[in-house]
Amino acid sequence: MSGLYVHVPFCKSKCGYCGFYSAPDAYHLTEKYFDAVLKDLSARKKKKYDTLYIGGGTPSSVSPVLLSVFLEKLFSAIGSDFAESTIEANPESVSEDFLSVIKGFGFSRLSVGCQSTDEDVLKLLGRIHGRDDIFKTAELARKICPETALNLDMIFDIPTVENYVQMQTLADIISLSAEHVSAYSYSFDTEFLKDAEPCGESAFIDVKRALGAVGYGKYEISNFAKAGHESRHNIGYWKLEDYDGLGCAAWSLENFSGGRVLYGKVSDVGSYIANPTAFAETDRTEGSAAMGQELVFGLRMLDGVDVSSLKYRYGDLMNIFDGRIETLVAEGMLTWQKDRLKLTEKGELLLDSVQEYLWDCLP
Ligand code: SF4
Repeated sequence: MSGLYVHVPFCKSKCGYCGFYSAPDAYHLTEKYFDAVLKDLSARKKKKYDTLYIGGGTPSSVSPVLLSVFLEKLFSAIGSDFAESTIEANPESVSEDFLSVIKGFGFSRLSVGCQSTDEDVLKLLGRIHGRDDIFKTAELARKICPETALNLDMIFDIPTVENYVQMQTLADIISLSAEHVSAYSYSFDTEFLKDAEPCGESAFIDVKRALGAVGYGKYEISNFAKAGHESRHNIGYWKLEDYDGLGCAAWSLENFSGGRVLYGKVSDVGSYIANPTAFAETDRTEGSAAMGQELVFGLRMLDGVDVSSLKYRYGDLMNIFDGRIETLVAEGMLTWQKDRLKLTEKGELLLDSVQEYLWDCLP
């Protein structure tokens, strides 16, 4: 599988917790930016992709006319025959025109950044939409593009926010019957709320059980889907499959026999427009480090990592972990299922520590 990601960096404002690159005051550059993305594409080797993901930033916040012109050109360059195509949106900017564009271009998934349905929490996070915008967005999306599956993003374990408030968000999200839910634990690497303690117990297990009870299968540490609606594009990221990333701050990954290279674009709209085909960063990993990377990333998937496949491709390099895998199994955080190494529920709760512990061994 190979994926294409297009970064649309424009946002109406900057959320307090956001660690992604976004450009709140750059809408006047939208047209030039899309032209630059197409130039960036023309310099790539691949001309066909299995999945497409238009993310941000806030793709729904740009002019639907400019978005439509861009998509027309993009699809005429790479075709429109994807196994999956996703576009992201935020509730304050989802208009009928935007949804008509999605329908017209046949997007199979619409991913909406809800985060919370509580007005005070939305303000705390610096979101500019209200609770009602979320419900209106879901209703309008079902009406205008009923064939498009819906993903709703939420954040839980937000410091200073009581657990029952976050559980109400979860109940609201469930009431919207989306095909897919992404539920992120609040652990953003920013200064925002960094000294505050999460309020009450971790909601991690409650979220998993509540979604499981209404038919959502957990397939990745933060992602839940009704059967057949798992995100193929995102699975490609966690399995470190090839992808091209177009746009500022976007990364591309290319595998080769025994390793992989990551290429990164500059995190600045103006600099990207000036030179869209240049890469600002390159990171090459091979041998035991590449194998270890694949194992550590792959543990995010709930079906775990096929260690026999790693051995086949990299040789028997498992000893680089210096007995740590055995320790994690003995501590009840990892478990073997034939040749697959998986997280236990305890391991899911402590994923960051598990990954760090293994990561430390990599050269
Ligand atoms: S809308 Fe998303 S990308 Fe934009 S600032 Fe907020 S969290 Fe960041």
